[in-house]
Amino acid sequence: MKLATRVTKIKPSPTLAVTMRARALQAQGKDIIGFGAGEPDFDTPENIKQAAIKAIQEGFTKYTPVGGIDELKDAIITKLKRDNGLTYKRSQIVASCGAKHTLYNIAQALFEKGDEVIIPSPYWVSYPDIVLLAGAKPVIVNTTASTGFKLTPEKLEKAIRKKTRAVVINSPSNPTGATYSLKELEGLAEVILSKGILAISDDIYERILYDGLVFHNMANVSEAMKDRCIVVNGVSKAYAMTGWRIGYAAGPENIISAVTEMQSQSTSNATSISQKASVEALAGDQKTVSVMAAEFEKRRNYIVGQLNEIKGMSCMKPPGAFYVFPRVSRLYGTGYGGRKIAHSVDLSEFLLEEAGVAVVPGSAFGNDHHIRLSYATSMKNIEEGVRRIKAVVKKLA
Ligand SMILES: *Cc1c(COP(=O)(O)O)cnc(C)c1O
Repeated sequence: MKLATRVTKIKPSPTLAVTMRARALQAQGKDIIGFGAGEPDFDTPENIKQAAIKAIQEGFTKYTPVGGIDELKDAIITKLKRDNGLTYKRSQIVASCGAKHTLYNIAQALFEKGDEVIIPSPYWVSYPDIVLLAGAKPVIVNTTASTGFKLTPEKLEKAIRKKTRAVVINSPSNPTGATYSLKELEGLAEVILSKGILAISDDIYERILYDGLVFHNMANVSEAMKDRCIVVNGVSKAYAMTGWRIGYAAGPENIISAVTEMQSQSTSNATSISQKASVEALAGDQKTVSVMAAEFEKRRNYIVGQLNEIKGMSCMKPPGAFYVFPRVSRLYGTGYGGRKIAHSVDLSEFLLEEAGVAVVPGSAFGNDHHIRLSYATSMKNIEEGVRRIKAVVKKLA
């Protein structure tokens, strides 16, 4: 049967091969330690669950306005003021079925054939495909460990052409954890404003930030920059609510209104029950957020220390998110038992089969020199997982 060409534009994710193999091995009864997860291992906090139960019991189970109930928009506005010092009106807010959905709708509302969108690499796997699905062209700009995996104003300026519409900034970053300071954002904003492009700020890991760092996004730079910035965030990562599917955007009124229109002819509103739960998440007690972040910080300190002890691996201490992105390319060219390690997929397969440890190859994020490990798993799993990695990497020669 003929399929639309847009389907063929989407690359099957290189993460899939490893994930599928890990599942298959698990199904065979093998003991696999998973460092692949892109979601918190914590349960959704009790107060949030109770808000959802109450919504169901009160019959709050019907369609809502497409862009979200006023109560949720107000909770988002309160959050943006409280945590980010940013002021928005209801007409500048839209709630969607997860931040990924928000980003998808933004791309659909803003980009088309002939447009280019700058995506710094290493990038979250969905950005390029979301841009492609809008018919536009993702322009990948490589960043390296030497700049902490951050885009510099020089690199940004070089990548901007007449067709450039926007740049995506994800801070703290998935997969590197890289986090931009206000000063670094100011440098980028100067270029963005002088070239008249937009910034899409993916703040989903905002609350998972370590070492007492204070979060800033592009909209914090200036009123002028705020007018050219779409802030995207959601409840998935901060509140361990990945399955509830609530994300949101704040930005210029005409863009938000276009995003809402796109949504009105696809999903309509996000789940009414999840909207009520998200009101509690954003406006209720915030204690659990810092409890989770403190636990992630402990795990980060441990896993970074351990990985840096492994010959052939070197790992930056990420200031945020719950991933480590060690450089492993010094192991390329080695092998074991007839298996050659030539790239990040080879190494990931080796770790899976020889150590029973699932990681994600860096090539999935646009950087083949690295692999990604998520430490959104118990300390016990992390200890056992790194012990296994250490043991099998020693065998490589
Ligand atoms: C998890 C993630 C998202 C999407 O989260 P939703 O569950 O769709 O709200 C967006 N951006 C990045 C970088 C992520 O890691």
